[in-house]
Amino acid sequence: MQSVLRGIPASPGIVVGPVHLLRWEVPEVRQRLIADAEIETEIERLHDAFERGRERLRHLRVRAESAVGHEEAAIFDVQVSILDDAQLTKRIEALIRQNLCAEKAFDLILLEWRQHFARHTAPMLRERVGDLTDVHIRILSILLDLPDHDPVDLPRGANAILVTHDLTPSLTMQLDRECISAIATDAGTATAHVAILARSLGLPAVVGLRNALSYLQGGELAILNGAEGTLMIAPSDAEVAEARQRVTEEEGQVDQLRELAHSEAITRDGTRFVVRVNVDIPEESEMGATSGADGVGLMRTEFLVVNRAAMPDEEEQYRAYRRVVQAFGTRPVIIRTFDVGGDKLPVGGFPSEANPFLGWRAIRMCLDESELFKVQLRALMRAGVHGDLRIMLPLVVTVDEVRETRKLMEECVQELDARRVPFRSDLPLGVMVETPAAAIACDTLVRDVDFFSIGSNDLVQYTLAVDRGNANLAPRFTPLHPSILRLMARVQATGAAHGIDVCVCGEMASQPLSVFVMMGLGLRQFSVAARSVAGVKRVIRGVRLSAATEAAQAALESGTAREVETLLRRRLRAELDSYDRESDGLPALL
Ligand code: PEP
Ligand code: MG
Repeated sequence: MQSVLRGIPASPGIVVGPVHLLRWEVPEVRQRLIADAEIETEIERLHDAFERGRERLRHLRVRAESAVGHEEAAIFDVQVSILDDAQLTKRIEALIRQNLCAEKAFDLILLEWRQHFARHTAPMLRERVGDLTDVHIRILSILLDLPDHDPVDLPRGANAILVTHDLTPSLTMQLDRECISAIATDAGTATAHVAILARSLGLPAVVGLRNALSYLQGGELAILNGAEGTLMIAPSDAEVAEARQRVTEEEGQVDQLRELAHSEAITRDGTRFVVRVNVDIPEESEMGATSGADGVGLMRTEFLVVNRAAMPDEEEQYRAYRRVVQAFGTRPVIIRTFDVGGDKLPVGGFPSEANPFLGWRAIRMCLDESELFKVQLRALMRAGVHGDLRIMLPLVVTVDEVRETRKLMEECVQELDARRVPFRSDLPLGVMVETPAAAIACDTLVRDVDFFSIGSNDLVQYTLAVDRGNANLAPRFTPLHPSILRLMARVQATGAAHGIDVCVCGEMASQPLSVFVMMGLGLRQFSVAARSVAGVKRVIRGVRLSAATEAAQAALESGTAREVETLLRRRLRAELDSYDRESDGLPALL
Protein backbone atom coordinates (compact mmCIF):
# COMPACT_ATOMS: atom_id res chain seq x y z
CA MET A 1 0.00 0.00 0.00
CA GLN A 2 1.35 3.41 -0.91
CA SER A 3 1.98 5.94 1.83
CA VAL A 4 4.17 8.90 2.70
CA LEU A 5 5.71 8.84 6.18
CA ARG A 6 6.73 12.23 7.53
CA GLY A 7 9.68 12.69 9.84
CA ILE A 8 12.33 15.30 10.52
CA PRO A 9 14.78 16.35 7.77
CA ALA A 10 18.23 15.26 8.99
CA SER A 11 20.56 15.11 6.01
CA PRO A 12 19.64 16.27 2.48
CA GLY A 13 19.52 14.14 -0.64
CA ILE A 14 17.03 11.94 -2.50
CA VAL A 15 17.44 8.17 -2.72
CA VAL A 16 15.23 5.67 -4.54
CA GLY A 17 15.88 2.14 -3.28
CA PRO A 18 14.66 -0.93 -1.40
CA VAL A 19 13.96 -0.74 2.33
CA HIS A 20 16.32 -2.70 4.59
CA LEU A 21 14.91 -3.17 8.07
CA LEU A 22 17.29 -3.34 10.98
CA ARG A 23 15.92 -4.55 14.29
CA TRP A 24 19.02 -4.32 16.46
CA GLU A 25 17.51 -5.10 19.80
CA VAL A 26 17.72 -8.04 22.17
CA PRO A 27 14.80 -10.34 21.25
CA GLU A 28 12.44 -11.54 23.94
CA VAL A 29 13.08 -15.10 25.10
CA ARG A 30 10.46 -17.40 26.58
CA GLN A 31 11.40 -19.67 29.44
CA ARG A 32 11.33 -23.35 28.35
CA LEU A 33 12.24 -26.30 30.54
CA ILE A 34 13.86 -29.34 28.97
CA ALA A 35 13.94 -33.00 30.03
CA ASP A 36 17.13 -34.56 31.41
CA ALA A 37 17.47 -36.58 28.21
CA GLU A 38 17.62 -33.36 26.14
CA ILE A 39 20.46 -31.72 28.08
CA GLU A 40 23.37 -32.90 25.92
CA THR A 41 21.62 -31.98 22.66
CA GLU A 42 20.80 -28.57 24.06
CA ILE A 43 24.46 -27.99 24.99
CA GLU A 44 25.43 -29.04 21.49
CA ARG A 45 22.90 -26.55 20.09
CA LEU A 46 24.57 -23.82 22.15
CA HIS A 47 28.03 -24.76 20.83
CA ASP A 48 26.71 -24.83 17.27
CA ALA A 49 25.23 -21.36 17.70
CA PHE A 50 28.55 -20.06 19.07
CA GLU A 51 30.40 -21.56 16.12
CA ARG A 52 27.98 -19.99 13.63
CA GLY A 53 28.35 -16.71 15.55
CA ARG A 54 32.15 -16.88 15.28
CA GLU A 55 31.99 -17.58 11.57
CA ARG A 56 29.65 -14.66 11.07
CA LEU A 57 31.89 -12.31 13.06
CA ARG A 58 34.98 -13.33 11.12
CA HIS A 59 33.12 -12.67 7.89
CA LEU A 60 31.96 -9.25 9.16
CA ARG A 61 35.48 -8.45 10.23
CA VAL A 62 36.74 -8.90 6.69
CA ARG A 63 33.89 -6.74 5.36
CA ALA A 64 34.46 -4.01 7.97
CA GLU A 65 38.19 -3.99 7.39
CA SER A 66 37.75 -3.12 3.74
CA ALA A 67 34.83 -0.75 4.37
CA VAL A 68 35.94 1.24 7.41
CA GLY A 69 39.45 0.22 8.40
CA HIS A 70 41.61 -1.98 10.53
CA GLU A 71 41.00 -0.41 13.95
CA GLU A 72 37.24 -0.33 13.57
CA ALA A 73 37.24 -3.97 12.41
CA ALA A 74 39.01 -5.00 15.61
CA ILE A 75 35.69 -4.69 17.42
CA PHE A 76 34.71 -8.02 15.88
CA ASP A 77 37.82 -9.71 17.35
CA VAL A 78 36.67 -8.58 20.77
CA GLN A 79 33.29 -10.17 20.15
CA VAL A 80 34.88 -13.44 19.02
CA SER A 81 36.96 -13.43 22.19
CA ILE A 82 33.75 -13.16 24.24
CA LEU A 83 32.45 -16.30 22.53
CA ASP A 84 35.78 -18.02 23.23
CA ASP A 85 35.57 -17.25 26.95
CA ALA A 86 35.56 -20.58 28.81
CA GLN A 87 33.90 -19.02 31.87
CA LEU A 88 30.96 -17.86 29.81
CA THR A 89 30.31 -21.29 28.29
CA LYS A 90 30.71 -22.95 31.69
CA ARG A 91 28.11 -20.71 33.32
CA ILE A 92 25.58 -21.22 30.52
CA GLU A 93 26.11 -24.97 30.47
CA ALA A 94 25.52 -25.09 34.22
CA LEU A 95 22.09 -23.52 33.72
CA ILE A 96 21.25 -25.90 30.87
CA ARG A 97 22.15 -28.77 33.21
CA GLN A 98 19.46 -27.36 35.51
CA ASN A 99 16.98 -28.08 32.69
CA LEU A 100 16.83 -24.60 31.16
CA CYS A 101 16.72 -24.34 27.35
CA ALA A 102 19.88 -23.00 25.66
CA GLU A 103 18.41 -19.62 24.61
CA LYS A 104 17.08 -18.81 28.09
CA ALA A 105 20.31 -19.92 29.78
CA PHE A 106 22.35 -17.78 27.36
CA ASP A 107 19.97 -14.83 27.79
CA LEU A 108 20.16 -14.89 31.59
CA ILE A 109 23.95 -15.11 31.75
CA LEU A 110 24.44 -12.38 29.16
CA LEU A 111 22.10 -10.08 31.10
CA GLU A 112 24.06 -10.78 34.25
CA TRP A 113 27.41 -10.12 32.53
CA ARG A 114 26.19 -6.90 30.94
CA GLN A 115 25.00 -5.59 34.30
CA HIS A 116 28.24 -6.62 35.96
CA PHE A 117 30.41 -4.89 33.33
CA ALA A 118 28.21 -1.75 33.27
CA ARG A 119 28.93 -1.23 36.98
CA HIS A 120 32.65 -1.92 36.75
CA THR A 121 34.95 0.81 38.03
CA ALA A 122 37.46 0.41 35.18
CA PRO A 123 36.32 2.35 32.06
CA MET A 124 37.92 -0.19 29.73
CA LEU A 125 35.82 -2.98 31.17
CA ARG A 126 32.69 -0.87 31.04
CA GLU A 127 33.34 -0.48 27.34
CA ARG A 128 32.75 -4.20 26.94
CA VAL A 129 29.01 -3.70 27.51
CA GLY A 130 28.43 -2.65 23.90
CA ASP A 131 30.22 -5.73 22.61
CA LEU A 132 28.32 -7.98 24.98
CA THR A 133 25.04 -6.50 23.76
CA ASP A 134 26.00 -7.14 20.14
CA VAL A 135 26.94 -10.75 20.98
CA HIS A 136 23.70 -11.12 22.94
CA ILE A 137 21.63 -10.08 19.91
CA ARG A 138 23.62 -12.11 17.38
CA ILE A 139 23.61 -15.43 19.24
CA LEU A 140 19.96 -15.16 20.31
CA SER A 141 18.98 -14.47 16.70
CA ILE A 142 20.75 -17.69 15.71
CA LEU A 143 19.26 -19.77 18.55
CA LEU A 144 15.77 -18.43 17.90
CA ASP A 145 16.17 -18.74 14.14
CA LEU A 146 15.30 -15.08 13.57
CA PRO A 147 16.06 -13.29 10.28
CA ASP A 148 19.54 -11.83 10.11
CA HIS A 149 19.27 -8.06 10.17
CA ASP A 150 22.95 -7.34 10.21
CA PRO A 151 23.55 -3.77 9.01
CA VAL A 152 27.00 -4.43 7.63
CA ASP A 153 26.29 -7.31 5.33
CA LEU A 154 24.10 -6.37 2.40
CA PRO A 155 25.01 -7.03 -1.22
CA ARG A 156 27.25 -4.35 -2.68
CA GLY A 157 25.40 -1.79 -4.79
CA ALA A 158 22.08 -2.56 -3.06
CA ASN A 159 21.39 1.19 -2.77
CA ALA A 160 19.26 0.34 0.25
CA ILE A 161 17.40 2.68 2.60
CA LEU A 162 18.15 1.47 6.12
CA VAL A 163 15.09 1.78 8.35
CA THR A 164 15.50 1.23 12.06
CA HIS A 165 14.27 2.43 15.42
CA ASP A 166 17.45 4.30 16.31
CA LEU A 167 21.09 4.08 15.32
CA THR A 168 23.93 4.31 17.76
CA PRO A 169 26.99 6.21 16.49
CA SER A 170 28.76 2.84 16.54
CA LEU A 171 26.26 1.19 14.19
CA THR A 172 26.27 4.27 11.96
CA MET A 173 30.03 4.02 11.59
CA GLN A 174 29.77 0.32 10.71
CA LEU A 175 27.40 0.89 7.81
CA ASP A 176 28.80 -0.22 4.53
CA ARG A 177 28.39 2.80 2.26
CA GLU A 178 28.53 0.58 -0.80
CA CYS A 179 25.17 -0.94 0.06
CA ILE A 180 23.41 1.57 2.33
CA SER A 181 22.55 4.84 0.58
CA ALA A 182 20.21 6.47 3.11
CA ILE A 183 19.01 6.19 6.70
CA ALA A 184 15.54 6.51 8.19
CA THR A 185 14.88 6.18 11.92
CA ASP A 186 11.76 6.20 14.07
CA ALA A 187 13.58 7.94 16.92
CA GLY A 188 15.88 10.96 16.86
CA THR A 189 15.81 14.61 15.91
CA ALA A 190 17.85 16.88 13.66
CA THR A 191 20.42 17.50 16.39
CA ALA A 192 20.75 13.88 17.52
CA HIS A 193 24.15 12.44 16.80
CA VAL A 194 22.94 10.00 14.22
CA ALA A 195 21.73 13.01 12.18
CA ILE A 196 25.02 14.86 12.64
CA LEU A 197 27.01 11.80 11.62
CA ALA A 198 24.76 11.13 8.61
CA ARG A 199 25.47 14.67 7.40
CA SER A 200 29.21 14.11 7.84
CA LEU A 201 29.09 10.87 5.94
CA GLY A 202 26.97 12.54 3.24
CA LEU A 203 24.18 9.99 3.77
CA PRO A 204 20.68 11.36 3.13
CA ALA A 205 18.63 10.81 6.29
CA VAL A 206 15.20 11.28 7.81
CA VAL A 207 14.75 10.83 11.55
CA GLY A 208 11.82 11.00 13.99
CA LEU A 209 9.46 8.93 11.80
CA ARG A 210 8.03 7.47 15.02
CA ASN A 211 6.37 4.34 13.58
CA ALA A 212 7.88 3.52 10.19
CA LEU A 213 8.95 0.09 11.41
CA SER A 214 5.38 -0.96 12.01
CA TYR A 215 4.45 -0.13 8.38
CA LEU A 216 7.28 -1.98 6.73
CA GLN A 217 8.25 -5.54 5.98
CA GLY A 218 11.59 -4.89 4.31
CA GLY A 219 12.37 -5.14 0.62
CA GLU A 220 9.67 -2.70 -0.56
CA LEU A 221 10.70 0.14 -2.87
CA ALA A 222 10.80 3.59 -1.27
CA ILE A 223 11.86 7.18 -1.94
CA LEU A 224 13.67 8.97 0.86
CA ASN A 225 13.85 12.74 0.66
CA GLY A 226 16.31 13.97 3.31
CA ALA A 227 15.64 17.68 2.77
CA GLU A 228 11.88 17.31 3.12
CA GLY A 229 12.01 14.65 5.82
CA THR A 230 9.80 12.12 4.00
CA LEU A 231 9.85 8.41 3.25
CA MET A 232 7.47 7.41 0.46
CA ILE A 233 6.64 3.70 0.46
CA ALA A 234 5.69 1.86 -2.75
CA PRO A 235 5.78 4.91 -5.03
CA SER A 236 4.13 4.82 -8.45
CA ASP A 237 6.26 4.66 -11.61
CA ALA A 238 5.58 8.35 -12.19
CA GLU A 239 6.78 9.23 -8.68
CA VAL A 240 9.96 7.21 -9.14
CA ALA A 241 10.59 8.96 -12.47
CA GLU A 242 10.04 12.37 -10.85
CA ALA A 243 12.40 11.57 -7.96
CA ARG A 244 15.09 10.42 -10.39
CA GLN A 245 14.58 13.64 -12.35
CA ARG A 246 15.15 15.67 -9.16
CA VAL A 247 18.32 13.73 -8.41
CA THR A 248 19.59 14.66 -11.88
CA GLU A 249 18.62 18.33 -11.35
CA GLU A 250 20.45 18.41 -8.01
CA GLU A 251 23.51 16.95 -9.65
CA GLY A 252 23.25 19.77 -12.19
CA GLN A 253 23.32 22.39 -9.40
CA VAL A 254 26.57 21.12 -7.94
CA ASP A 255 28.78 23.56 -9.89
CA GLN A 256 26.65 26.58 -8.99
CA LEU A 257 26.70 25.60 -5.31
CA ARG A 258 30.45 25.03 -5.36
CA GLU A 259 30.96 28.53 -6.78
CA LEU A 260 28.76 29.99 -4.07
CA ALA A 261 30.64 28.01 -1.38
CA HIS A 262 33.93 29.48 -2.58
CA SER A 263 32.66 33.05 -2.79
CA GLU A 264 33.38 35.61 -0.06
CA ALA A 265 31.07 35.64 2.95
CA ILE A 266 30.22 39.34 2.74
CA THR A 267 26.90 41.10 3.12
CA ARG A 268 25.41 43.47 0.55
CA ASP A 269 26.45 46.36 2.78
CA GLY A 270 30.01 45.13 3.13
CA THR A 271 30.36 43.22 6.43
CA ARG A 272 32.61 40.20 6.31
CA PHE A 273 31.86 36.89 8.03
CA VAL A 274 33.86 33.79 8.83
CA VAL A 275 32.37 30.47 7.74
CA ARG A 276 34.12 27.33 8.96
CA VAL A 277 33.30 23.64 8.75
CA ASN A 278 32.47 21.02 11.33
CA VAL A 279 34.50 17.84 10.92
CA ASP A 280 33.36 14.68 12.64
CA ILE A 281 35.81 12.11 11.32
CA PRO A 282 39.39 12.72 10.09
CA GLU A 283 38.48 11.23 6.69
CA GLU A 284 36.31 14.30 6.10
CA SER A 285 39.28 16.69 6.29
CA GLU A 286 40.20 16.80 2.64
CA MET A 287 36.59 17.36 1.57
CA GLY A 288 36.19 20.01 4.28
CA ALA A 289 39.41 21.73 3.22
CA THR A 290 38.12 22.18 -0.33
CA SER A 291 34.59 23.19 0.71
CA GLY A 292 35.27 26.92 0.58
CA ALA A 293 35.45 27.20 4.39
CA ASP A 294 37.82 29.38 6.42
CA GLY A 295 39.03 26.50 8.60
CA VAL A 296 37.48 24.07 11.07
CA GLY A 297 35.17 25.56 13.70
CA LEU A 298 34.51 22.24 15.43
CA MET A 299 36.11 18.84 15.16
CA ARG A 300 34.14 16.32 17.22
CA THR A 301 36.84 13.91 18.39
CA GLU A 302 34.49 11.47 20.11
CA PHE A 303 33.90 9.67 16.83
CA LEU A 304 37.50 8.47 17.09
CA VAL A 305 36.44 6.53 20.16
CA VAL A 306 33.15 5.15 18.90
CA ASN A 307 33.27 1.58 17.67
CA ARG A 308 36.61 0.86 19.21
CA ALA A 309 37.82 -1.99 21.33
CA ALA A 310 40.25 0.38 23.11
CA MET A 311 40.78 4.14 23.42
CA PRO A 312 43.02 5.39 20.60
CA ASP A 313 46.57 5.89 21.91
CA GLU A 314 48.55 9.14 21.67
CA GLU A 315 50.21 8.22 18.41
CA GLU A 316 46.98 7.36 16.66
CA GLN A 317 45.27 10.51 17.91
CA TYR A 318 48.27 12.61 16.91
CA ARG A 319 48.08 11.24 13.37
CA ALA A 320 44.33 11.88 13.19
CA TYR A 321 44.67 15.51 14.36
CA ARG A 322 47.72 16.12 12.18
CA ARG A 323 45.76 14.94 9.15
CA VAL A 324 43.06 17.56 9.78
CA VAL A 325 45.50 20.36 10.58
CA GLN A 326 47.66 19.66 7.54
CA ALA A 327 44.65 19.47 5.23
CA PHE A 328 43.74 23.03 6.25
CA GLY A 329 47.24 24.51 5.91
CA THR A 330 47.39 27.87 7.68
CA ARG A 331 43.65 28.05 8.39
CA PRO A 332 42.56 27.65 12.03
CA VAL A 333 41.44 24.18 13.14
CA ILE A 334 39.47 24.05 16.38
CA ILE A 335 39.53 20.58 17.88
CA ARG A 336 37.14 19.77 20.69
CA THR A 337 38.27 17.39 23.42
CA PHE A 338 36.27 14.18 23.92
CA ASP A 339 32.56 14.79 24.39
CA VAL A 340 31.68 11.24 25.35
CA GLY A 341 28.80 10.16 27.55
CA GLY A 342 25.19 11.30 27.17
CA ASP A 343 23.89 10.03 23.87
CA LYS A 344 27.34 9.93 22.27
CA LEU A 345 28.46 6.59 23.66
CA PRO A 346 25.18 5.32 24.99
CA VAL A 347 26.29 1.71 25.19
CA GLY A 348 29.53 0.61 26.66
CA GLY A 349 32.17 2.79 28.14
CA PHE A 350 30.05 4.24 30.86
CA PRO A 351 27.67 3.01 33.49
CA SER A 352 24.10 3.68 32.48
CA GLU A 353 22.80 6.74 34.25
CA ALA A 354 19.27 7.85 34.99
CA ASN A 355 19.89 11.24 33.33
CA PRO A 356 22.82 10.83 30.94
CA PHE A 357 22.48 14.36 29.55
CA LEU A 358 22.94 15.70 33.06
CA GLY A 359 25.51 13.09 33.83
CA TRP A 360 29.13 12.13 33.68
CA ARG A 361 29.90 13.48 30.26
CA ALA A 362 32.41 15.54 28.28
CA ILE A 363 34.80 17.73 30.34
CA ARG A 364 33.52 16.13 33.58
CA MET A 365 34.54 12.66 32.50
CA CYS A 366 37.84 13.94 31.02
CA LEU A 367 38.88 15.68 34.23
CA ASP A 368 37.98 12.64 36.34
CA GLU A 369 39.89 10.33 34.00
CA SER A 370 42.83 12.70 33.75
CA GLU A 371 45.31 10.15 32.39
CA LEU A 372 43.03 9.44 29.41
CA PHE A 373 42.52 13.18 28.98
CA LYS A 374 46.25 13.88 29.03
CA VAL A 375 46.81 11.39 26.21
CA GLN A 376 44.50 13.54 24.11
CA LEU A 377 46.05 16.83 25.23
CA ARG A 378 49.55 15.59 24.39
CA ALA A 379 48.41 14.39 20.96
CA LEU A 380 46.84 17.82 20.32
CA MET A 381 49.96 19.71 21.46
CA ARG A 382 52.10 17.61 19.15
CA ALA A 383 49.74 18.05 16.18
CA GLY A 384 49.81 21.80 16.93
CA VAL A 385 53.25 22.19 15.35
CA HIS A 386 51.75 21.45 11.92
CA GLY A 387 49.42 24.44 11.69
CA ASP A 388 46.97 26.67 13.57
CA LEU A 389 45.40 24.21 16.02
CA ARG A 390 43.17 25.46 18.84
CA ILE A 391 41.72 23.37 21.65
CA MET A 392 38.08 23.61 22.74
CA LEU A 393 36.41 22.17 25.85
CA PRO A 394 32.81 20.88 25.75
CA LEU A 395 30.00 21.33 28.29
CA VAL A 396 31.83 23.78 30.49
CA VAL A 397 29.83 25.18 33.42
CA THR A 398 32.56 26.74 35.56
CA VAL A 399 35.92 28.40 35.06
CA ASP A 400 37.45 25.79 37.40
CA GLU A 401 37.17 23.27 34.57
CA VAL A 402 39.28 25.51 32.34
CA ARG A 403 41.86 26.06 35.07
CA GLU A 404 42.13 22.34 35.83
CA THR A 405 42.64 21.67 32.12
CA ARG A 406 45.41 24.27 31.99
CA LYS A 407 47.12 22.51 34.91
CA LEU A 408 46.97 19.20 33.06
CA MET A 409 48.37 20.94 29.98
CA GLU A 410 51.32 22.13 32.06
CA GLU A 411 51.96 18.54 33.14
CA CYS A 412 51.81 17.50 29.48
CA VAL A 413 54.44 20.15 28.65
CA GLN A 414 56.82 18.58 31.19
CA GLU A 415 56.13 15.09 29.88
CA LEU A 416 56.62 16.03 26.22
CA ASP A 417 59.73 18.04 27.08
CA ALA A 418 61.22 15.00 28.76
CA ARG A 419 60.49 12.91 25.68
CA ARG A 420 62.08 15.54 23.43
CA VAL A 421 59.28 15.43 20.84
CA PRO A 422 58.22 18.60 19.00
CA PHE A 423 55.05 20.20 20.37
CA ARG A 424 53.38 23.55 21.02
CA SER A 425 52.82 24.66 24.57
CA ASP A 426 50.88 27.82 23.70
CA LEU A 427 47.83 26.48 21.87
CA PRO A 428 44.79 28.75 22.27
CA LEU A 429 42.20 27.22 24.61
CA GLY A 430 38.51 27.99 24.20
CA VAL A 431 35.20 26.70 25.50
CA MET A 432 31.87 25.64 24.12
CA VAL A 433 29.12 27.82 25.52
CA GLU A 434 26.37 25.25 25.57
CA THR A 435 25.00 25.32 29.09
CA PRO A 436 22.86 28.14 30.49
CA ALA A 437 25.48 28.44 33.27
CA ALA A 438 28.25 29.22 30.79
CA ALA A 439 26.08 31.61 28.79
CA ILE A 440 24.66 33.57 31.72
CA ALA A 441 28.00 33.80 33.53
CA CYS A 442 30.23 34.01 30.43
CA ASP A 443 31.92 37.05 31.97
CA THR A 444 33.41 34.71 34.62
CA LEU A 445 35.18 32.79 31.86
CA VAL A 446 36.64 35.58 29.74
CA ARG A 447 39.91 35.98 31.58
CA ASP A 448 40.77 32.30 31.31
CA VAL A 449 39.76 31.45 27.76
CA ASP A 450 40.87 32.50 24.29
CA PHE A 451 37.55 32.05 22.47
CA PHE A 452 33.90 31.04 22.81
CA SER A 453 31.90 28.77 20.55
CA ILE A 454 28.17 28.57 21.09
CA GLY A 455 26.90 24.99 20.87
CA SER A 456 23.30 25.74 20.05
CA ASN A 457 22.20 22.08 20.07
CA ASP A 458 22.94 21.65 23.74
CA LEU A 459 22.23 25.26 24.66
CA VAL A 460 18.67 24.86 23.35
CA GLN A 461 18.29 21.46 25.02
CA TYR A 462 19.40 22.68 28.45
CA THR A 463 17.73 26.10 28.32
CA LEU A 464 14.34 24.84 27.17
CA ALA A 465 14.68 21.55 29.12
CA VAL A 466 13.88 19.60 25.93
CA ASP A 467 15.81 16.40 25.19
CA ARG A 468 17.47 17.05 21.80
CA GLY A 469 17.12 13.39 20.75
CA ASN A 470 13.46 12.83 21.68
CA ALA A 471 11.27 12.69 18.58
CA ASN A 472 8.12 13.22 20.65
CA LEU A 473 9.44 16.59 21.81
CA ALA A 474 10.71 17.73 18.40
CA PRO A 475 8.03 20.46 17.99
CA ARG A 476 9.10 21.86 21.37
CA PHE A 477 12.77 22.06 20.39
CA THR A 478 12.57 25.67 19.23
CA PRO A 479 16.00 27.31 18.77
CA LEU A 480 14.36 30.65 17.93
CA HIS A 481 12.87 30.96 21.43
CA PRO A 482 13.64 34.49 22.69
CA SER A 483 15.57 33.01 25.66
CA ILE A 484 18.12 31.49 23.27
CA LEU A 485 18.51 34.71 21.30
CA ARG A 486 18.99 36.69 24.51
CA LEU A 487 21.65 34.28 25.76
CA MET A 488 23.44 34.50 22.42
CA ALA A 489 23.31 38.29 22.46
CA ARG A 490 24.82 38.26 25.93
CA VAL A 491 27.68 35.92 24.98
CA GLN A 492 28.39 37.93 21.82
CA ALA A 493 28.44 41.26 23.69
CA THR A 494 30.68 39.89 26.45
CA GLY A 495 33.07 38.35 23.92
CA ALA A 496 33.22 41.59 21.94
CA ALA A 497 33.86 43.66 25.06
CA HIS A 498 36.86 41.48 25.92
CA GLY A 499 38.18 40.98 22.39
CA ILE A 500 37.25 37.28 22.36
CA ASP A 501 36.01 35.57 19.18
CA VAL A 502 32.52 34.09 19.38
CA CYS A 503 31.51 31.42 16.88
CA VAL A 504 28.30 29.37 16.57
CA CYS A 505 28.87 25.72 15.75
CA GLY A 506 25.53 24.00 16.47
CA GLU A 507 22.86 23.27 13.86
CA MET A 508 21.44 26.81 14.13
CA ALA A 509 24.50 27.95 12.17
CA SER A 510 23.15 26.23 9.06
CA GLN A 511 19.49 27.27 9.29
CA PRO A 512 18.73 30.35 7.13
CA LEU A 513 16.38 32.05 9.63
CA SER A 514 18.80 31.49 12.53
CA VAL A 515 21.77 32.72 10.51
CA PHE A 516 19.86 35.88 9.62
CA VAL A 517 18.92 36.64 13.23
CA MET A 518 22.36 35.72 14.61
CA MET A 519 23.99 38.09 12.10
CA GLY A 520 21.78 40.80 13.53
CA LEU A 521 22.75 39.82 17.09
CA GLY A 522 26.35 40.64 16.20
CA LEU A 523 27.72 37.14 15.59
CA ARG A 524 30.31 37.04 12.82
CA GLN A 525 31.50 33.42 12.78
CA PHE A 526 29.61 30.27 11.91
CA SER A 527 30.74 26.67 11.65
CA VAL A 528 28.63 24.19 9.68
CA ALA A 529 28.72 20.83 7.89
CA ALA A 530 30.70 21.07 4.63
CA ARG A 531 27.56 20.69 2.56
CA SER A 532 25.97 23.70 4.26
CA VAL A 533 28.75 26.20 3.50
CA ALA A 534 27.08 27.33 0.26
CA GLY A 535 23.69 27.78 1.96
CA VAL A 536 25.10 29.94 4.77
CA LYS A 537 26.99 32.12 2.31
CA ARG A 538 23.83 32.44 0.26
CA VAL A 539 22.09 34.03 3.26
CA ILE A 540 25.05 36.25 4.16
CA ARG A 541 25.55 37.49 0.60
CA GLY A 542 21.83 38.00 -0.01
CA VAL A 543 21.13 40.39 2.88
CA ARG A 544 22.16 43.73 4.35
CA LEU A 545 23.50 43.69 7.88
CA SER A 546 21.26 46.67 8.68
CA ALA A 547 18.17 44.58 7.85
CA ALA A 548 19.46 41.66 9.96
CA THR A 549 20.09 44.00 12.90
CA GLU A 550 16.57 45.42 12.74
CA ALA A 551 15.12 41.91 12.50
CA ALA A 552 17.17 40.76 15.50
CA GLN A 553 15.95 43.72 17.60
CA ALA A 554 12.35 42.83 16.82
CA ALA A 555 13.05 39.14 17.53
CA LEU A 556 14.56 39.91 20.94
CA GLU A 557 11.40 41.74 21.91
CA SER A 558 9.06 38.95 20.73
CA GLY A 559 7.24 36.67 23.13
CA THR A 560 7.45 33.25 21.49
CA ALA A 561 9.54 31.18 19.09
CA ARG A 562 6.62 31.12 16.67
CA GLU A 563 6.41 34.91 16.60
CA VAL A 564 10.14 35.12 16.02
CA GLU A 565 9.96 32.60 13.20
CA THR A 566 7.10 34.41 11.48
CA LEU A 567 8.79 37.78 11.59
CA LEU A 568 12.18 36.44 10.48
CA ARG A 569 10.64 34.51 7.60
CA ARG A 570 8.82 37.60 6.38
CA ARG A 571 11.86 39.87 6.65
CA LEU A 572 14.40 37.44 5.23
CA ARG A 573 12.15 36.62 2.29
CA ALA A 574 11.69 40.32 1.50
CA GLU A 575 15.43 40.87 1.78
CA LEU A 576 16.34 37.96 -0.49
CA ASP A 577 13.59 38.71 -3.02
CA SER A 578 14.98 42.19 -3.46
CA TYR A 579 18.43 40.95 -4.37
CA ASP A 580 19.25 37.22 -4.42
CA ARG A 581 20.55 37.07 -8.00
CA GLU A 582 23.00 34.29 -7.40
CA SER A 583 20.25 31.86 -6.54
CA ASP A 584 18.62 31.65 -9.96
CA GLY A 585 18.12 27.98 -10.67
CA LEU A 586 18.65 26.90 -7.06
CA PRO A 587 15.79 25.63 -4.87
CA ALA A 588 14.20 28.32 -2.66
CA LEU A 589 15.96 28.89 0.67
CA LEU A 590 12.72 29.44 2.57
C1 PEP B 1 26.22 21.66 20.21
O1 PEP B 1 25.85 21.20 21.29
O2 PEP B 1 25.61 22.54 19.59
C2 PEP B 1 27.44 21.15 19.55
C3 PEP B 1 27.94 21.74 18.49
O3 PEP B 1 27.99 20.01 20.05
P1 PEP B 1 27.34 18.57 19.88
O4 PEP B 1 26.24 18.67 18.87
O5 PEP B 1 28.44 17.68 19.44
O6 PEP B 1 26.86 18.26 21.25
MG1 MG C 1 27.17 19.99 22.46
